[in-house]
Amino acid sequence: MFYLISVSEMHKELYDVIIIGGGIAGSSAALYTARQGLRTAIITMDVGGQLRYANVIENYPGIELIGGLDLVLKVQKQAIAFGAEIFIDEVILLNKSEGIFIVKTRRGSILESLSVIAACGKAPKKLRVRGEENFIGKGLSYCVVCDGPLYKGRRIALNSFGENGIEALNLLAPIAKELIYIVPTKTDVSIQEAVKYGNVSVYSGYRVVELYGDEKLEKIVVMNGNGDREVVDVDALFIELGFETQIDFLKPYVDINERNEVVVDKYGTTKTEGLFAAGDLVDMPYKQAVVSAASGVIAALSAINYVNRRRGIVKNFVSDWKKSGVSQQRRLFRL
Ligand SMILES: Cc1cc2nc3c(=O)[nH]c(=O)nc-3n(C[C@H](O)[C@H](O)[C@H](O)COP(=O)(O)OP(=O)(O)OC[C@H]3O[C@@H](n4cnc5c(N)ncnc54)[C@H](O)[C@@H]3O)c2cc1C
Repeated sequence: MFYLISVSEMHKELYDVIIIGGGIAGSSAALYTARQGLRTAIITMDVGGQLRYANVIENYPGIELIGGLDLVLKVQKQAIAFGAEIFIDEVILLNKSEGIFIVKTRRGSILESLSVIAACGKAPKKLRVRGEENFIGKGLSYCVVCDGPLYKGRRIALNSFGENGIEALNLLAPIAKELIYIVPTKTDVSIQEAVKYGNVSVYSGYRVVELYGDEKLEKIVVMNGNGDREVVDVDALFIELGFETQIDFLKPYVDINERNEVVVDKYGTTKTEGLFAAGDLVDMPYKQAVVSAASGVIAALSAINYVNRRRGIVKNFVSDWKKSGVSQQRRLFRL
């Protein structure tokens, strides 16, 4: 898949704000912080977040109809134009020492920042089995809509269930040479749909327990409740098991409610000074693109005020009508 954005090389310098998550909340936050001249980095595992899975958005104010990914890309392009930098990576550790946040990523980069905005909503559920991390993008995908067409005419495995499973089956079965459908229960509603296709074999009551291959995914091991295992040759495996919040790295610095959401006040502030949170991640009652975008902006304005205070600027932003001079200079310099 190609994205119409530039992905930056990591820098060692101190950022004003690091935004964790490249969904609509993180991208909207970056637009605001970068426009006000804050040195802004977005670290994100993917481009677009959950909206990558939404083919059509009809309820974003001002836009009649748009693909979910296109919507986030538009916002990211705006943010990049104001100087935001984007890194595709996963944050695995967050520390705060002497007023500076230290962010460590899975690829081994360490970035420092005066403030952090956590906008890491939800990510696709992983299997957490042997071999999984090695094959992401090499035959293993968590997005049928995004990557399905890449495996046209191939032997594809799909691990899913329920309505998501039906949707994924209807996208993959017509293009696959052979589709292996692995569904966790024997009575799942999606099985009726699967058997309508002549090229689908169903493993009901099975789960994927291991993945193998050299350069790319070649085999998966599936296992049922009795412990019976089978090795299946595949060109690709799609996992569509829903979304989950993966925020263990944040837990020492935030309060979490019973729904595993980060508790924030009306300014997007967490219990740690300089750490803000936004979007689906936080304890807001409604999970919608426009709500996430707005909460990203709230967290951004709070981060701008926080960073400015640390620089000795006492004037508080309550609105953002004028671009900062710093931002303008940075843009001109970049051009
Ligand atoms: C299929 C589907 C259809 C939808 N349709 C609509 C709709 O029509 N209208 C609407 O308003 N809303 C819709 N939504 C809801 C909407 O997509 C979400 O409310 C919104 O996208 C949440 O945005 P977010 O930025 O808060 O979080 P997310 O979109 O979840 O983004 C989180 C980002 O953080 C990244 N991340 C997570 N952990 C880490 C980490 N440790 N390190 C680095 N990056 C990390 C993820 O990779 C992701 O990029 C839909 C959702 C889905 C799944």
